[in-house]
Amino acid sequence: MAASEDKAVCPRCGSREFITEPNSYDVLIFNSGKFEVKATEMVSGQVKVFCRECLSQVDEMASSREGRVVLK
Ligand SMILES: [Zn+2]
Repeated sequence: MAASEDKAVCPRCGSREFITEPNSYDVLIFNSGKFEVKATEMVSGQVKVFCRECLSQVDEMASSREGRVVLK
């Protein structure tokens, strides 16, 4: 696995699963330049995204813009 080229992982810990709130059951993955909900529906509007493993907050707008996972 080419981890260094993987843009869909947390830059801090390498997790590829993200959540909308700490302790949430919504699991997100970064796919094709945007966050997709793996487990449940994402409500449109302002969404906070966190790494599931290290709970770093993700900058969802910057991630969409740059096509890779960007932390706040
Ligand atoms: Zn992380």
